[in-house]
Amino acid sequence: MSAAPTIGVLALQGDVAEHIAVLRSLGVHAVKVLSPERLDAVDGLILPGGESTTMSKLALRYGLMEPLRERVEAGMPAYGTCAGMIMLADEILGGTHDQRTVGGIDMTVRRNAFGRQTESFEARVHVDGIGEDPFDAIFIRAPWVERVGPEVTILGRVTGPDEAGRIVAVQKGGLMATSFHPELTGDARIHRLFVDIVKGHA
Ligand code: GLN
Repeated sequence: MSAAPTIGVLALQGDVAEHIAVLRSLGVHAVKVLSPERLDAVDGLILPGGESTTMSKLALRYGLMEPLRERVEAGMPAYGTCAGMIMLADEILGGTHDQRTVGGIDMTVRRNAFGRQTESFEARVHVDGIGEDPFDAIFIRAPWVERVGPEVTILGRVTGPDEAGRIVAVQKGGLMATSFHPELTGDARIHRLFVDIVKGHA
């Protein structure tokens, strides 16, 4: 693979432009993915935050759900943030009856997990693989991970306003997911970690 990989951002819905901007700041060729053809052309994919129920519907409507499943299964690196984390979960709690996910990470993710009073909050999270400094993480109606399978590595946990030690960052091979929104903080360390995974994937 060339030094500058092409990384797509799934552009069905959500905070697409912010991810593209961070990727470009890292010298990555970043493109929006809204068709199976575009998906074929990327070396890795970010699934952004937004609304996972809407993303699920639109992925089906755009004929992207099956191609996404196939590429993830075939080993394409992918990174899901917030709603994107939900999309990469093999199992979800609190979803709508017709909600589908791409899957790929053997984990159970609970939607809107931090409670209704807690629409959003910020916390400093230690994330394995990005150095000692904690990450200023922004959580917006965020999910948490309730269960991980044996092959999933936990990268970070947060003590929420009313909860203890919830899993909010995970990795399984080339797949990563965080409950929070690293594209909103001006700290590119987690994106860089993903870019390195994509480069190493070759
Ligand atoms: N609560 C949203 C969902 O279930 C996720 C929120 C977000 O991505 N900021 O999809």
